[in-house]
Amino acid sequence: MATMKLYYEQPDTREFDARVVSITSDQDGYSGIILDRTLFYPDGGGQPCDSGTLAGIPVSAVLEAGDDVVHRIMATGDSLQLAGIVPGATIRSLVDVERRRDHSEQHTAQHLLSSVLLRLKGAGTLSFHLGERYSSIDLDVVPMERSEVDAIEDEVLRIIRDDYRVLTHLCPPEDPATFPLRKEPSVETGVLRVVEIDGLEYSACCGTHVCSTGSLGLFRITRVEKYKIGCRVYFLAGNRAFADYRRLAALARDAAAATGTPEDDIVSVLVASKDRIKTIERSLDEARDAAAAAESQVLDAVAPAGVVVFSESQSIDAASRLARALARLGRISVVSCPADLKAVACSPAPSEPGSEPVDTVFGLLAKEHGGKGGGGKAFFQAAFPDAASLEVFLESSRVVAAQRLASRLP
Ligand SMILES: [Zn+2]
Repeated sequence: MATMKLYYEQPDTREFDARVVSITSDQDGYSGIILDRTLFYPDGGGQPCDSGTLAGIPVSAVLEAGDDVVHRIMATGDSLQLAGIVPGATIRSLVDVERRRDHSEQHTAQHLLSSVLLRLKGAGTLSFHLGERYSSIDLDVVPMERSEVDAIEDEVLRIIRDDYRVLTHLCPPEDPATFPLRKEPSVETGVLRVVEIDGLEYSACCGTHVCSTGSLGLFRITRVEKYKIGCRVYFLAGNRAFADYRRLAALARDAAAATGTPEDDIVSVLVASKDRIKTIERSLDEARDAAAAAESQVLDAVAPAGVVVFSESQSIDAASRLARALARLGRISVVSCPADLKAVACSPAPSEPGSEPVDTVFGLLAKEHGGKGGGGKAFFQAAFPDAASLEVFLESSRVVAAQRLASRLP
């Protein structure tokens, strides 16, 4: 005998008593319990299953198996006996009605949204996903402009305010051909459920819904993004939308407090701050380049002509600037940054006299000593696994540099 499904007629009922019809246990410590009746909605139609307890044991999944509903719980053998879950026994079960209510709100909002999108945009809904935080539908049209999204939102909100009834038809006894269904129903045997939003929208659907659109209260499209050849529309409805509104309001309050400005001025204050930061960064950049140029002149004056200049900097950024400044003076250099376990090698542009391809000379040496990095003929940067590897690389580089100088002497 098929499980009697109570969740459509008693959406707000939290507790129910039912007789255990059968129990199957598996090797993973789970059992599948079939009851003669249930308030637990099983996974299906894009809507996740209900949660709750069977004789005090949490329900981890609810699945449909033919005409039956299987409640999966983590208990077998003695644990089941102890809870009184044995074939023929009547047990008490509890359903998380807040979770059910939330799912019904998102699901009803999906019907509304899909119907408005089809009517105003000619957009067809390809699929529906009800997630833990957001729900989404996939459409067969490319992403819309924000003004179009606002118009869709406005129409959904109008239908919510006008409080349309949500009705359910069972076929048979009713004839499905009498309903202008938004989408062809998938071929099914048995009774087809047609959910109607009072003359506005008709869909074949096995999910749970609220009784009228007014009880959704609030609706918001949070994001529209390109997805495959169409787009994905994320939305919130009912209590989720209220919770999100409260979260955003708190963010605005916190941002106002952090910037010391009224909420309406936050954006202009942030834009002005961003511009100021850019100006400061530009000045800082110029100052760092000037410091590197000054340091390079000192090193150039001290180091004999023709030798590779070796130096050290506090940061890899400073090392790069110094090496490039030395290259502008016609010098080849290796500048290390022990704090970052990195080093750079730089030479004047390849076309200039005295230039040497640093990647083939110091780049190869860096790799030999565990360095990883990259660059080209005029600039090379490498990171080393530890201080010892960096030190050995610098020593080898000094030896190679001295040999090269010696080979150039008459
Ligand atoms: Zn539905």
